[in-house]
Amino acid sequence: MLDKVLMHILKLLKDDPPPKLDKELALIPKLCTIHNELITIRKILSSMRYKEQILQERETHLQYLANHDPLTGAINRRAFMERACIEIEKNVQNHVPCGVVMIDIDFFKKFNDTYGHIAGDKALCHLVQVISASMRKNDFLGRYGGEEFLFFFCNADKKTGIAIAERFRKALETSPVQLETGSIFITASFGVAAIGDKDTENGINEEFMEKFIDRADQALYQAKNSGRNKVVSFDEIEAAKIK
Ligand code: GH3
Ligand code: MG
Ligand code: MG
Repeated sequence: MLDKVLMHILKLLKDDPPPKLDKELALIPKLCTIHNELITIRKILSSMRYKEQILQERETHLQYLANHDPLTGAINRRAFMERACIEIEKNVQNHVPCGVVMIDIDFFKKFNDTYGHIAGDKALCHLVQVISASMRKNDFLGRYGGEEFLFFFCNADKKTGIAIAERFRKALETSPVQLETGSIFITASFGVAAIGDKDTENGINEEFMEKFIDRADQALYQAKNSGRNKVVSFDEIEAAKIK
């Protein structure tokens, strides 16, 4: 009998669902008390676990909201910077080249004026979808602000960075935004700035990131000035200055 009692208590502690008291054991008053107490404790623990799970889910959701742009689902500027700093450090440590691409939709104000702001919003989401579908697993895209995006490429030198941007440019140029009124093509301009070992000699901090984004921005400016729907790299501008 003692064995049966002990086995029942063990099952009360471990089994899911908990065991029921059979007729024979129900005749032992102290066991009935222990049974009921343990069932109550199990209910309290289960409700605590449920609340903890809800809190965890809320925390994950808040984290997502804090790091993402609500319109396009791309990571936001702050999250991009944080992730880029970590990635650059990793790449530099392993002597692996990497870089950033600044992307800006061409004549987007006109697009909004012509097709409306909601269509403009769709175009922004479209760009994120097109680029996301064409990028490698460890690379990432963030919304820098307005119709400007930043793309980070790792394990690729300047030449490959330019080729990646060119792939995005072509993908965007050839896949229209689907509006209720029809299919509309958009284009974007791209500024590429590659990061090498020497660039990071003074450490990777906010100042360093600003310098690099400024380089990508200068390249983008050149792409805009030389006709748009183009990829320009910062090195090309520097080389042109020397000539
Ligand atoms: P450029 O080719 O020189 O880049 O010209 P642009 O017209 O694209 O550039 P401009 O800076 O003149 O205009 C950017 C436009 O982007 C203006 C602004 O209304 C629009 N824009 C920025 N954020 C959003 C957004 O979240 N949704 C929509 N629909 N439009 C946006
Ligand atoms: Mg712009
Ligand atoms: Mg623009």
